[in-house]
Amino acid sequence: MKRIEAGADEGLSRRTFLTVVAGAAAVAASGSARAAEALAAFALPALPYAPDALAPAISAQTVGFHYGKHHQGYVTALNKLVQGTALAGKPLEEVIRATAGQADQAAVFNNAAQIWNHTFYWRSLAPAGGGQPSGALLEAVKQAFGSYEACAAALSEAALKQFGSGWVWLVAEKGQVKVVKTPNAETPLTQAGVVPLLTIDVWEHAYYLDYQNRRADYVKAVLEQRVNWAFAAENFAQAGR
Ligand code: MN
Repeated sequence: MKRIEAGADEGLSRRTFLTVVAGAAAVAASGSARAAEALAAFALPALPYAPDALAPAISAQTVGFHYGKHHQGYVTALNKLVQGTALAGKPLEEVIRATAGQADQAAVFNNAAQIWNHTFYWRSLAPAGGGQPSGALLEAVKQAFGSYEACAAALSEAALKQFGSGWVWLVAEKGQVKVVKTPNAETPLTQAGVVPLLTIDVWEHAYYLDYQNRRADYVKAVLEQRVNWAFAAENFAQAGR
């Protein structure tokens, strides 16, 4: 989690991803199975803002269901799935990488990746977001796309072309920024050398209460009013060249 940990000032530190429930004493006092159970408890990271802080671009009702039901649901499901297994107590990113592409671990991967993707999504948004990137990230955006506007257009196009559920990402690879999309729970986190900078959730649950079928309007509102370019810039700075 090194690269996005740099932004830990937003209240989402590493511990919120790991949520180590068991203290050393508790582990010592219990059998290994019980210790594994205790260590299995992933937790729902706190939202970096109030549930109504993204309105009207994203309503409090949408955030309430999306964070409180969907994001929480992945946490609850993952805890059940890894309980008593070798993955219990592992860092979330390790669980994601260990299960990626393995058919017999699809349920674990899907829930673990969705926890990570959603935490990254909430951080990719900000109440006073929108506008444009600046500094080194803006230069990289201009180099890759020609202009910020062309980058935003590429993000919008990818969002609309993602068939069904998925995610749109701005990522960095060897210092170059690019737009990618992933289906379902897939995440660039599992791709060697690819560093996620920001994401937009394009699952219907992300926008349907506010925009119904109008995914383009949701993406437009996010890009113009809520994208957290400071978060993306922190990730870009950590990505290296
Ligand atoms: Mn979602």
